[in-house]
Amino acid sequence: HFDVTIKLLRNKRSSGRFLILLNDISDRLAQEQLKADFISMVSHELRSPLTSIKGSMGLLLSGAAGDVPSKAKSLLEISHRNADRLVLIINDILDLEKITTGRMEFTMCDVDLDELVKEAIAASAVTTKNFGQRVLFDGVQGSEVIYTDPNRIIQVLTNLISNASKFSRPNGIIHVSCVEGPRGMTLTVRDEGAGIPAEDQHKVFKRFADLSNSDRSGKGGTGLGLSICKAIVESLGGSIGFESHPGSGSSFHFVLPSDKDDREKGNHAAQRR
Ligand code: ADP
Repeated sequence: HFDVTIKLLRNKRSSGRFLILLNDISDRLAQEQLKADFISMVSHELRSPLTSIKGSMGLLLSGAAGDVPSKAKSLLEISHRNADRLVLIINDILDLEKITTGRMEFTMCDVDLDELVKEAIAASAVTTKNFGQRVLFDGVQGSEVIYTDPNRIIQVLTNLISNASKFSRPNGIIHVSCVEGPRGMTLTVRDEGAGIPAEDQHKVFKRFADLSNSDRSGKGGTGLGLSICKAIVESLGGSIGFESHPGSGSSFHFVLPSDKDDREKGNHAAQRR
């Protein structure tokens, strides 16, 4: 494999001539492929045993092997939570690898947005209820059915709700809305939390974004979630953005096109990615 650069020479003696530079990039491509295969293999190999550890801990916690003494129970709960976190990290790494190699797959169908938003809210309840937070959703305003990938949209929504929860105070309120506009359906997740410092706002969608409010160790994120959301939404032909006011909260929104042509463009972009 070669990288080709063609330069038009402009000085008097060589005017009208071209210089063609060939740079052999076969080694670099082979190394990148090796790295992607390695990440994928390691993540898959880690996920299956981890799922079985998590399942066993869940069974122990539910009392399947008899009563668990309270001290052991709290240790088990910590292990179970951390196993959950590891699964999320591995899933993020696998998604990132699929995005960079253009292998993220989409399964499109007609989706009832009202049901889908409610499903995403229910899936986030473990986190939000833990902090006594309420998630409010007034139903879809506009047409309810859209042709898209339901699982990927639930993934984006749960990510946004989980961020809203992490960066809000306990017992706070998170608002979710779904409104039809000229470009398609706009889904918004708004919180009344800490907001994002102005100087960090340009980094929000970058991979491994390290923002001053992130406190990774305490809040437990990989810094990959929003970059994955962006790739998913754009692959579905949409766009994602946010507004944030430090001290009073953030609002993340994404638009899903109702126009078939825009969705096709997104799918082509996903294949080229
Ligand atoms: P992580 O998994 O670390 O949360 P994300 O990509 O989801 O990574 O988010 C990147 C960073 O953007 C977060 O670490 C945080 O600093 C900031 N952020 C995202 N959503 C919010 C929000 N609703 N309120 C405040 N900060 C946010």
